[in-house]
Amino acid sequence: MKKIIASFAVLVSMAACNNNDSAPDDSDGLAAFSGDSLAHHIAVLADDSLLGRKPFSEGEVKTLRYLEQEFKQVGLEPGNGSSYLQEVPMVRISTQADQQMEIKGVNKALNLEGFNDFVIWTDKTDSSISLKDAEIVFAGYGVVAPEYNWNDYAGLDVRGKVVMILVNDPGFNAGDTSLFKGKAMTYYGRWTYKFEEAGRQGAKGCLIVHETKAASYPFTVVQNNWNGSRLRLDNRGKKESLCDMIGWVSADAAKQILAAAGKDSTLLATADRRGFKGQPLGLQLSVNMKVKAEYNMSHNVIGKITGSKYPGETIIYTAHWDHLGVGKPDETGDSIYNGALDNASATAGLIELARAFKSMKQKPERTIVFLSVTAEEQGLWGSAYYAQNPVYPVKQTLANINMDGLNYYGKTKELIVVGRGQNDLEDILQEEAKKVGRDIAFETKPEGGSYY
Ligand SMILES: [Zn+2]
Repeated sequence: MKKIIASFAVLVSMAACNNNDSAPDDSDGLAAFSGDSLAHHIAVLADDSLLGRKPFSEGEVKTLRYLEQEFKQVGLEPGNGSSYLQEVPMVRISTQADQQMEIKGVNKALNLEGFNDFVIWTDKTDSSISLKDAEIVFAGYGVVAPEYNWNDYAGLDVRGKVVMILVNDPGFNAGDTSLFKGKAMTYYGRWTYKFEEAGRQGAKGCLIVHETKAASYPFTVVQNNWNGSRLRLDNRGKKESLCDMIGWVSADAAKQILAAAGKDSTLLATADRRGFKGQPLGLQLSVNMKVKAEYNMSHNVIGKITGSKYPGETIIYTAHWDHLGVGKPDETGDSIYNGALDNASATAGLIELARAFKSMKQKPERTIVFLSVTAEEQGLWGSAYYAQNPVYPVKQTLANINMDGLNYYGKTKELIVVGRGQNDLEDILQEEAKKVGRDIAFETKPEGGSYY
């Protein structure tokens, strides 16, 4: 989903002028914006009584009630049939992994230490996961990308085995702009993709080798996942090819694994070159995990304004309503993560944007959908569910503009586009920004992969 950090004025005029040559006058819509209303919504949504808006909590119930009431009040029609809600069934998977991972080579055995050397979990809901003497295969970046003529799994049989792969994509380390997108991370560089691909290949396990630069965050971030719990969509009844075990090993642990195989890190560098061939390392891995799965229902909130001329064509504005809930207290003893900026601000913005559209004398020609999604903080699940179960046909959905944290810096000259060149909204944005004396700028660290 494209993230455009933009000011309100530009967003409104952009959407309004998207309608072709007979662009409506948007000044009456812009005039409807009220700083006081925005502040009021933020104050309500970030109030302690909403307990940090965590999915499934009392905070969710109160948040949904408020959004539904406000959507009705500004005059939005229900966006999902006769309802303002879309149910999002989810599962919380908690894992308890063995403290040690055993790796055996022909002459050498190695015990890796949980948390320090490896962090593993599972997307499966079986009550226990057991890997016993699973072969380890080095599979480069674990990428199958026909458009870049690249297949790290070519000629490899990884069924029932554990693949060890690198983070990011071949263009990153090679620094070669003709490989993938050079330094800029592609979707293939993300760990979520790598785990999915390993599952599709039939691997039983997938371990990504952590490198701070290539991952764009330190191993301590990975360690936050140690024996924790994660949300996923409840995919019971759907066919999924998932690995039993997924996770990371530290760069140092990877060195030890390679040494046990009689190799060194020069093997990893071969993955940056065209013609790379993966290979079994002649090592067997054993580890177990206990798993607990709890099912629960969260909700997206959805309202719409039916288009006057092309009602079948849709433009969607999104902002996630959830935040982190209640956690560790700060020095004052306050344990509620209110999330005023992230993302009460843009959720408030969504309501006010709806009011602005409703205030326009000339009604929007296309259907405008206002979608406040759940569980962004734990993996963008509300968005993922909507994308898999769209209420409005994807083919007739012309644009999705997502808002995450409104600008609180004051007036700015530039609008930053994350994920340059991914779609043509960028061109419209540039034109509209110019009209209000602004310009667009591009993110400074595309290798971080924030776009994804
Ligand atoms: Zn956010």
